[in-house]
Amino acid sequence: MSASPTLALACELIRRASVTPDDAGCQTLVAGRLAPLGFRVEPMRFGDVDNLWARHGDGAPLLLLLGHTDVVPTGPLDEWSSPPFEPAIRDGYLYGRGAADMKGGVAAMVTAIERFVERRPRRRGSLALLLTSDEEGPAVDGVRRVTDVLAERGERIDWCLVGEPSSTGRLGDVVRNGRRGSLSGRIVVQGIQGHVAYPHLARNPVHDLARLLSKLADTVWDEGSEHFPPTSFQVSNVTAGAGADNVIPGQAEAAFNFRYSTRHDRGSLVAAVESAARALGIDCRIDWRHSGGPFLTEPGRLIEAVGDAVESVAGYRPELSTAGGTSDGRFIAPTGAEVVELGPVNATIHSIDERVLATDLDRLSEMYEGVIDRLLGG
Ligand SMILES: [Zn+2]
Repeated sequence: MSASPTLALACELIRRASVTPDDAGCQTLVAGRLAPLGFRVEPMRFGDVDNLWARHGDGAPLLLLLGHTDVVPTGPLDEWSSPPFEPAIRDGYLYGRGAADMKGGVAAMVTAIERFVERRPRRRGSLALLLTSDEEGPAVDGVRRVTDVLAERGERIDWCLVGEPSSTGRLGDVVRNGRRGSLSGRIVVQGIQGHVAYPHLARNPVHDLARLLSKLADTVWDEGSEHFPPTSFQVSNVTAGAGADNVIPGQAEAAFNFRYSTRHDRGSLVAAVESAARALGIDCRIDWRHSGGPFLTEPGRLIEAVGDAVESVAGYRPELSTAGGTSDGRFIAPTGAEVVELGPVNATIHSIDERVLATDLDRLSEMYEGVIDRLLGG
């Protein structure tokens, strides 16, 4: 059996061990496929991050396909059924790190573009592909930097299709039309160290921290909305004490994260936490890290095109969802573009034995081609 062009390209990408922020030659491979089709191919390297901007045509509207070539680390190699950077097909599944997140999606985008451009050399608007090698990392020198360059040049994106693995049970059952915001905090509570038998001479920061975390965890931040699940506060790490059971420690630390809807913003959440700490009289310092605000694409041309393209391949229409982690779509949405994510089934992403149904990659490529056709086709 010979592999389809999409499956063959996915295998070539998996063979390049591109753990964040290494691109390991993936973007050069893709650039070599797009340049002969008439794409203006532009590598943009910032720091140790490789980005590839490739555009076909000059006019509006501009449809952007967005993806990443980096992958997360493999975890223990001996737990994999086959080596993670040697693509293998077993029982109809393609195994390998990045098969689902998201070299499968990148391969499907490239072959969809190839078929579209070869079939319809004259089209309206422009088609672009943007790849970064820093989606799974700090995401500082990746899509965020490229959008700055595009804004300076006045290159405006109208629609952005992200290839992140959005599907849950079967291909195309869920597409994401928005994402929650993500705000992390690291709190250090200052107490006074002492002997547990003399608590009146000490101040226990663990007790202070516990009171604050309990209050924040019990707060109903909002009830969610038509498009967003309720805002959630979660504690991820708590540290205090040096192991001795007769010492009240001098400091206690915790890390927490908000995933929040459009009913909140960074400022309102920071203010709520700081005022809760003040109300409890807690002596603390909080460092904040904001990964991205929430965004939402309302039903419009892009959502309609994606829904129709999925239905014509799969026979069902996708459900719209804003659940899940953040993605690079958060850097494109603030430019005013409509952003939708459609990609493979996400059941095994970041796991040992990451895999995707091999035939899903061909069907995904057809779906992407259908979206391009509907938005830019003659
Ligand atoms: Zn991803």
